[in-house]
Amino acid sequence: MSIEEQLIENAKNGKVLTHKCTDCGHLHLSTVYYCLKCGSKGFEDVLLEGTGTIATYTIITVAPAGFEKYTPYAFVVINLDNSELRISGFMAGIATPADLPVGTKVKISDFDERGIIVEKQ
Ligand SMILES: [Zn+2]
Repeated sequence: MSIEEQLIENAKNGKVLTHKCTDCGHLHLSTVYYCLKCGSKGFEDVLLEGTGTIATYTIITVAPAGFEKYTPYAFVVINLDNSELRISGFMAGIATPADLPVGTKVKISDFDERGIIVEKQ
């Protein structure tokens, strides 16, 4: 399975596949190919729960062609629980900032043509 396929598979199960540096222990998203801290290329897979809190987001009211059916939705950045990693995804039904205060607890729920799908916990 490619990294992309693994990412999709794990997102559908509410998980995030990460790469932990076998030299210094620094945790990365699985799309990184060498350690950002020490340059090592040795990684082991670590599966994290796809839960966290909203760090920031952008509400999308004018969607790219083909994505109009999803509006309004938000492109969100999540601080993952139990790690310093951030991951980005998409959240349905977000029309105004009142719908999604920063710090809202969310979880990864699926993966579709937009990418990782997130919902409120
Ligand atoms: Zn390292």
